[in-house]
Amino acid sequence: MPATSLDQLVSLCKRRGFIFPGSEIYGGLANTWDYGPLGIEMKNRIQRLWWDRFVRKRQDMVGLESGILMNARVWEASGHVANFGDPLVDCKGCKERFRGDKLLEEKLGVEASAVLTLEQVQPMLMAEKIPCPGCGKIQWATAKKFNMMFKTKQGVIEDEGSDLYLRPETAQGMFVQFKNISQSMRRRLPFGIAQVGTVFRNEITPGNFTFRTREFQQMEIEYFVEPGTEAPIFEQWKEQMWQWCLDLGLAKERLRIREHAKEELSHYSSRTIDIEYLYPWGWGELYGLANRSDFDLSQHQKFSGEDLKFTDPDDPTKKFLPHVVEPTFGLTRTVLAVLLEAYAEEKLENDTRTVLKLQPNVAPYDVAILPLSKKEHLIHKAQELYNKVIQETPLSVDFDITGSIGKRYRRHDEIGTPKCVTVDFGTLGEDEKQGIIDTVTIRDRDTLKQERVSIHELISRLR
Ligand code: ATP
Repeated sequence: MPATSLDQLVSLCKRRGFIFPGSEIYGGLANTWDYGPLGIEMKNRIQRLWWDRFVRKRQDMVGLESGILMNARVWEASGHVANFGDPLVDCKGCKERFRGDKLLEEKLGVEASAVLTLEQVQPMLMAEKIPCPGCGKIQWATAKKFNMMFKTKQGVIEDEGSDLYLRPETAQGMFVQFKNISQSMRRRLPFGIAQVGTVFRNEITPGNFTFRTREFQQMEIEYFVEPGTEAPIFEQWKEQMWQWCLDLGLAKERLRIREHAKEELSHYSSRTIDIEYLYPWGWGELYGLANRSDFDLSQHQKFSGEDLKFTDPDDPTKKFLPHVVEPTFGLTRTVLAVLLEAYAEEKLENDTRTVLKLQPNVAPYDVAILPLSKKEHLIHKAQELYNKVIQETPLSVDFDITGSIGKRYRRHDEIGTPKCVTVDFGTLGEDEKQGIIDTVTIRDRDTLKQERVSIHELISRLR
């Protein structure tokens, strides 16, 4: 049973060092979140798994890290300066601001921003009698276009020419470096470029913890193909994205694919799907997959004046702009979905426990080594064991001596540590009832079963 409310998870994340409210000692900064010691371990693990699966272990993929700051013309070419905005509506009753398209989407079930013009948003809100989520009144002002890019300035001279944007997606880095990459890496089509990085969007209604924030991370792929070959490649990516979700531990029944209706598609896209997850507040986007045709490359070719055509290595007379299939994954949104899915509250015989049933490969720690009590020679033996496991394995290991053993087990249940290894007086050869010398217990997070194993075989059991 996953988390049924966000509050359960928000509280666990703070209490146990996964995610903290940003700038908290200064009263906070709304909708900003910092990844604490355990949150960053988990996020890094997900990122590494993604990179391994989609970049390092594939012949047809290469990586890139482009800058957050790019020439402002990039965003003119991509259409973000003119179009990257949401319809903002003010409630005349309480003065709160909302995304008109999202309010309509909840009622009508289609992406309203794509089917309605800006002028149609307010009349539609009134006609559908959609109340303000803040005060309940139905008094909407005319919708305005609100560009979501954060603007900043470069250098010391304040003039028009120094205006820059913080990137709202990583994708454009891949298009802008397409020529350098295809030439330096001697690629043949189809091939993809992947990038993981921070992006910024001045969202009108951020919220639901880390689901919608103004600074977040994406893992994106631009997969370049010969025009006309997109359809089966799109299908393959759809399956690979779906499998990735299952491998992260997300349950099939809380995942679905939403095919964008024809009217919803952007003018350059012939097909877009979202993979949605059932969050505690309902279905919402987790990932997207779009067929972007040659829109971006042709725009950058036009705006930069550079020839971005791909030359077929087998036939140098064949030059064309590749088409692009774009699988895009929100990294911070993945962390949220995985945490929500793993969260469980369980009744035990005479107790209850909160446990994160994380897949072992995304848990912050693989194993915790716990001396049964604070007796110095016991701690010493446990420390020796810790050093051995750290040196002989790539595992991430916690060493925990604070509090009773019961409390430490509960802590590791709550942070999702799959295995706890306890060093007791039996290990030292001082208490036969606890076990024989040089043996320890391994406790399994999910079954709660404890098993006595020799230190000798411990490493192979943990791997
Ligand atoms: P939405 O419809 O939720 O605003 P989008 O369609 O604008 O999302 P994309 O531009 O496709 O999103 O971004 C790619 C991915 O980045 C999304 O699938 C999602 O996982 C993530 N993402 C988008 N916006 C945010 C945000 N504000 N906070 C956290 N993650 C986000």
